[in-house]
Amino acid sequence: MSRRTFLKVGAAAGAAVVAGAYFAWPGSNIPEAVRSGSALYDVLIIGSGGAGMRAALEASKQKGIKVAVMTKMAPTRSATTMAQGGINGAARNTDTKDSPEIHAFDTVKGADYLCDQDAVAYYTEESAKMLFELDYSGIAFNRQEDGRFHQRKMGGSSYARAAYSADISGHAVLHTMFEQCLKENIDFISECQLLEIVAMNGKLSGVVAVDMRSGEMLSVPAKTVIVATGGYGRAYWVRTSNPYSSTGDGIAACLNIGIPFKDPEMVQFHPTGLASNGVLLSESSRSEGAHLLNSSGERFMARYAPKAMELGPRDLVCQSVEKEILAGRGIGEGLKAAVYLDFRHIPKAIIQERLFQVRQLALQFEGVDIFDAPAPIRGTCHYSMGGIDVVDYKTCATKIAGIYAAGECSCISVHGANRLGANSLSEVLVFGKTAGAAAAAYAKGAGYEGDKEKLKAAVAAWNRKFDETTKRSQGASVAMIRDKMAMTMWNNAGIFRNEKGLRQAMGDMQELQAMYNTCQVGDSSRTCNTAFMNYIELGNLLRLGKGIIYGGLARKESRGSHSRTDFPQRDDKNFLQHTLISKEGDGFKTEYRPVMIGQYKPVERKY
Ligand SMILES: Cc1cc2nc3c(=O)[nH]c(=O)nc-3n(C[C@H](O)[C@H](O)[C@H](O)COP(=O)(O)OP(=O)(O)OC[C@H]3O[C@@H](n4cnc5c(N)ncnc54)[C@H](O)[C@@H]3O)c2cc1C
Repeated sequence: MSRRTFLKVGAAAGAAVVAGAYFAWPGSNIPEAVRSGSALYDVLIIGSGGAGMRAALEASKQKGIKVAVMTKMAPTRSATTMAQGGINGAARNTDTKDSPEIHAFDTVKGADYLCDQDAVAYYTEESAKMLFELDYSGIAFNRQEDGRFHQRKMGGSSYARAAYSADISGHAVLHTMFEQCLKENIDFISECQLLEIVAMNGKLSGVVAVDMRSGEMLSVPAKTVIVATGGYGRAYWVRTSNPYSSTGDGIAACLNIGIPFKDPEMVQFHPTGLASNGVLLSESSRSEGAHLLNSSGERFMARYAPKAMELGPRDLVCQSVEKEILAGRGIGEGLKAAVYLDFRHIPKAIIQERLFQVRQLALQFEGVDIFDAPAPIRGTCHYSMGGIDVVDYKTCATKIAGIYAAGECSCISVHGANRLGANSLSEVLVFGKTAGAAAAAYAKGAGYEGDKEKLKAAVAAWNRKFDETTKRSQGASVAMIRDKMAMTMWNNAGIFRNEKGLRQAMGDMQELQAMYNTCQVGDSSRTCNTAFMNYIELGNLLRLGKGIIYGGLARKESRGSHSRTDFPQRDDKNFLQHTLISKEGDGFKTEYRPVMIGQYKPVERKY
């Protein structure tokens, strides 16, 4: 549908509603060809975040290529739209000394050297261009006096490098992308949850998804699939900044067909989640000068990062916050223990212009006005460095021909053991673009080699599974299993880890898996059955959670966000390598792959 038709139909729908003030998503959530079973996509993208939409735009540039984006929610809802602080690229608008090489060095050091330096160099070169591309598409970035977009300095960065739209940068990025997608007539298959990628003996047939509105199981044949489904932060349900959709569905679907889960143990905890619920207070708070204080009012980062202070990398700052709490220099208890983030010395006009969402969040969830009082904060699960094993960063290809991965669900090995603030938005756009171009080029030269009968069989199997699981009237509830999973993940596979805790977590997860296998879904209707959706997501989180623990147990060292109290040192001799977890029977097997080291040889990190 063209943008004009979209607006026209939307306006008509709006007008039909009393007072005309309500704008509804028009018509069906699914293109007719998908519903009738006649669709065959050249490029089918799963996920409508920054990676998915940027991939769609690039793929649609190839003439004669049919592109669709599937999402389990409305197209503009995702982690991308929640991004706050900014998007990195060495555009040199604000700091002329910056360069893609310095950006690369900061990224490699931030990653604690567990990244592939060729992929990082490609990313930093392209991300600078990406900021100008967004600018030319009309994004509402904050501006300097000379009219060029302004850049702010985020944690672990040598220079001011993040372009931003106040503290709602992701919202601006995603809506700019969506406008472009509508202009290009890209099909959206929304409110449809991917259940399975059907690929047997290395041959891709397409995907099976459930239409959330009707409960119908759909098969969508495709020549190529780009997985762009976001991260798995919801494994730490009790304290995470992530949206409900970050349940690692695409990673689990890839694991099922033999594509490894790379570096699963590398989970980022952001230092400044609100004490009561883990909702994020953006890193741009510290970029604009907010101080971290303990219960005595001391700026404790002087102890841990005397030079960078609050603008150290996230792994270091988050572990410092936790150490203050463990040493009794925090406030509160249990999950809600905290230290403070203090804004009182920052001019109110700056807060109003650049941190208005941060102020709102602190007001709504903590009842604190940051003009007058510091906000209580603590680490919160924020980002998945691990993900689908991408074997070629120049195409985003996986080991199965025709299947690509981009964005937070992928592990292209740019972020290693710790991602820098504002590096994700640019990474998702750079590699979304790369994957879109590669998938379209592949599809253009290829016929459909899949098997529609296999897709039909998969749909029948999912219908049987729906009936069998939703009719159970006994067993544990999904919510109970989910909360127990999140508690054991937080307590035993969280900011600090050790052998005993990880083994405890593995035992807990096995028990929870047994409960899950016979649990109650709680709703057997087909219409808008979010209970079934949650059930599927929980199954994925349990698998990926076990992957995190498995990888964490095997990595007997501390590196970046993986901090083991029983192995406090980094061990380059044995662990300067990627963990690859693959399915083996009902369990996993672990393999390793060396890290690609370029010009930056591993040295001790100091900030
Ligand atoms: C609160 C917050 C603030 C952040 N701030 C910043 C920042 O300032 N700068 C920065 O660089 N990064 C930031 N990040 C990180 C960044 O936003 C994300 O890493 C990035 O946007 C991920 O983009 P993505 O396209 O890979 O995935 P997402 O944006 O998460 O999109 C995933 C898509 O996949 C869909 N999906 C998932 N599962 C399925 C399924 N089974 N079937 C169909 N569709 C599915 C979802 O509906 C969604 O459309 C922030 C993250 C959060 C949560």
